[in-house]
Amino acid sequence: MDKTNTPSPKDPAPKNPASLRPRTRMVHAGTARSGFDETCEAIFMTSGFVYGTAEEAESAFANDGSRFVYSRFRNPTVSMFEDRLAAYEGAERCFATASGMAAVFAALMSQLKAGDRIVAPHALFGSCLHIVKNLAPQFGIETTLVNGTDADEWRAALSRPANIVFLETPSNPMLDVVDLALVSELAHAAGARVVVDNVFATPALQRPLEFGADVVVYSATKHIDGQGRSLGGAILCDNKFAETLAPFLRHTGPALSPFNAWLLLKGLETMDIRIAAQVQSAQQVAEFLEGHAKIAKALYPGLKSHPQYELAQRQMKGGSTLVAFDVAGGKAEAFRLMNGLRIVRISNNLGDSKSLITHPATSTHQRLSDAERAAVGISPGSVRLSVGLEDPADLIEDLEQALAGV
Ligand SMILES: *Cc1c(COP(=O)(O)O)cnc(C)c1O
Repeated sequence: MDKTNTPSPKDPAPKNPASLRPRTRMVHAGTARSGFDETCEAIFMTSGFVYGTAEEAESAFANDGSRFVYSRFRNPTVSMFEDRLAAYEGAERCFATASGMAAVFAALMSQLKAGDRIVAPHALFGSCLHIVKNLAPQFGIETTLVNGTDADEWRAALSRPANIVFLETPSNPMLDVVDLALVSELAHAAGARVVVDNVFATPALQRPLEFGADVVVYSATKHIDGQGRSLGGAILCDNKFAETLAPFLRHTGPALSPFNAWLLLKGLETMDIRIAAQVQSAQQVAEFLEGHAKIAKALYPGLKSHPQYELAQRQMKGGSTLVAFDVAGGKAEAFRLMNGLRIVRISNNLGDSKSLITHPATSTHQRLSDAERAAVGISPGSVRLSVGLEDPADLIEDLEQALAGV
């Protein structure tokens, strides 16, 4: 076998993945075959790497990082995942992390210092809100929270200097859509870098970088794995931000396991077609729910009734795989619906091939006060449905029979 630890020169990854269509990139980009010429990408389950001589070790540490040295810094399987996702997203760099929260924390804290300021919407994933609202102030960082769908609130908050704008669109769980182009423009004028948590949109439906965002973060746990098997995260950025981020990751160590990287790498191969199927089903489910007598309100960016429908049409390629709705009659009736479902399972996770339903007020957003929940539109009857890969007719029948008991 070749003694070097660079990919086999016989069979490199496509030379210019950017010239390929996105679905093809997802199958081939980033592939780095070993000397054994395997078809499927290998799992390099190793913490370290060996050197033929002491001189080689010396130059590996002196050089630009092209050689694999230690899996906290870089690992071949993890690199394949990073390269493939970067090629799909159209980003210069991708850094994988062990979870979505590790990605969010590193993307924010690697660039912040005491005296800095974050502007973010109230409507954030629970742990993201904890970082900006509770953790950041412990380090002397100021946070201003706004209503993410109100342009005037963004304008007011960004009328004085800020360092980071951090947002999620569509938001968890009530699917608010934030105007990426407008907020990026205001943020840059205020001196802030824009970090977008793109989990709900997925890389298949929305490219924040094209609307002016600077950094994109993912919980790869969700649609990238797509089959509920592994935690993971990713940060996509340009080479300039990579200079700040890479040392932070190297020295704090939220590294993704090579095995989990392999699961996520294989998840990427099917992501584009999975999302297309799930979005089509979600649209049908949303239309069914919107017309149902026992549903007080259905929120889905692909419904004309969604408050930011026009904006969603402009910045997204589909309405997402998630549907939020309010069951008439509040918590008791929402619970009755959830308990009556036979195919859709109760879980706080999302982006799985299995359809999953959550009651945010008592699970993911239980720690928020009533006022905080109201501020992001979560009522006692609100539920969030993550639409999977089942036949949509079966999902609609399941919801229909469960709603009959409400
Ligand atoms: C799940 C999720 C996260 C956190 O990801 P983990 O992989 O669970 O750490 C962050 N943001 C959003 C929007 C999420 O849905």
